[in-house]
Amino acid sequence: MFARPSTTKTTQQNTLPPLRFHNTLSGTLETFTPISSGCVKMYNCGPTVYDRVHIGNLRAYVFANTLRRALDTWGYDVKQVINITDVGHLVSDADDGEDKMEKSAKKRGLSAQEIAQEITDLFFTDLDLLGIDRDTIQLPKATEFIAEQIALVQTLEEKGYAYIIADGVYFDTAKFASYGKLGNINVAEQKEGARVEENVEKKNPSDFALWKLSPNGEQRQQEWASPWGVGFPGWHIECTAMIFKLLGKQIDIHTGGIDHIPVHHNNEIAQAEAATGRQYVRYWMHGAFINIEGKRIAKSLGNTIYLQSIVDKGYSPRALRYWFLTGHYRSPMNFTWDALDGANTALKNLSRHMLDTTNSNTTTSDAQHSTQKAEPDAAFLADFYAAIADDLDTPKAIARVWELVKDASVSPEVKRASLLAADQVLGLGLADTQPVVKIEFMPIDTLPEEVRAIVAERQAARTDKNFARSDELRTQLASQGYEVTDSADGQHISKK
Ligand code: AMP
Ligand code: ZN
Repeated sequence: MFARPSTTKTTQQNTLPPLRFHNTLSGTLETFTPISSGCVKMYNCGPTVYDRVHIGNLRAYVFANTLRRALDTWGYDVKQVINITDVGHLVSDADDGEDKMEKSAKKRGLSAQEIAQEITDLFFTDLDLLGIDRDTIQLPKATEFIAEQIALVQTLEEKGYAYIIADGVYFDTAKFASYGKLGNINVAEQKEGARVEENVEKKNPSDFALWKLSPNGEQRQQEWASPWGVGFPGWHIECTAMIFKLLGKQIDIHTGGIDHIPVHHNNEIAQAEAATGRQYVRYWMHGAFINIEGKRIAKSLGNTIYLQSIVDKGYSPRALRYWFLTGHYRSPMNFTWDALDGANTALKNLSRHMLDTTNSNTTTSDAQHSTQKAEPDAAFLADFYAAIADDLDTPKAIARVWELVKDASVSPEVKRASLLAADQVLGLGLADTQPVVKIEFMPIDTLPEEVRAIVAERQAARTDKNFARSDELRTQLASQGYEVTDSADGQHISKK
């Protein structure tokens, strides 16, 4: 738990540009400075485990992981928590409708706990496939922190922020003067648009449940005794209770999708700051949606795509990560299979560069290549880190990676070292011993005769250290649809 990643501090850390993030609280780009020097406390709102996470949800965790990797690379000691919501999230994000867990359990004929376990395990598999190291993250379940949630509601009650009505204990948002400050939510407008079936006992439409009582005469699968009666926690309270317990009363970074800004995160701020009287989170960061045909991917819209479907179609799971990173985390992205296909090909090409030991019109000999311990290209790293420091501009960082890869004046070893350094932040798995996208090498005797002739001529050119000719022949192969990868035991040919 919370272990530092195995990456060693690089000499670049002394010269890294300051990190700047877009803070939803101020609506501006801000230079990042942690509360305690050298240490970052970060919380990412996790999934409600009633149904398998889809690629839209996964963007939120790849974004959090890229941020985490950047913070690690910048030398911070990061304490990161992603919660698992296994109780209390009602079908409406307000406090009405069925509990998502109980509804799903009924539908599947399983217990809420069984569903939660199944979906959590699938979520963890997805995280692993996307290069998100769970050993460095704490992943607590809401149901394991019921006592802390009750204690926090008691504090709010003692401080006069809570009131009791027939179906539970509610937070009085009128008592929290800056309610709605995150994202400048117009609470009055929200009230006008409030749903007609709004709980009429609430003092203000924006008030939210801290503790819900089990309906009279009905036994829920998940319910606990409390000072107010048997029931279950409201959805928002779990995040704050777990943050207080695991990270402290004030944290550096809190992330989630943009859908969390108007209600969930404003509610978290209200209850936390009412309880402590001090600022809860310094930097709020929110990721935009993944859409399909212009509509947000959502379980309720029935347009979900799962990581497993991507893997089943033969794509690398890291192709999805690559595709996410080609967009800025604050820009919506439209998923298409063509876009994923392009990402898979791009990743395959990067993997080729990791395998290539000599490819090039550099003048360094093979022998020199293999004995040199290359350092990353300094100009490349400076540009790459500058892009990441600029509010995680991964599209720009990736564009710079391609410039490097195409730069014939940079040796394959320096390219590899540079790609490895970049991958500490990008997490594409380029350091893995097996390429993340499988490259099928073709036995030479299965190649058409004219292709075999080029390969043979290229072998001779390489033996003669005629790299210029060898590069010409590589281009000829490419024009016929073949890629060549050089390694210590010779040339390997694959379809482009
Ligand atoms: P939920 O399980 O609904 O609480 O969602 C888990 C995370 O996924 C939250 O941070 C949501 O904001 C995020 N999320 C949900 N749908 C999408 C989507 N289509 N694109 C990007 N993020 C999403
Ligand atoms: Zn949350």
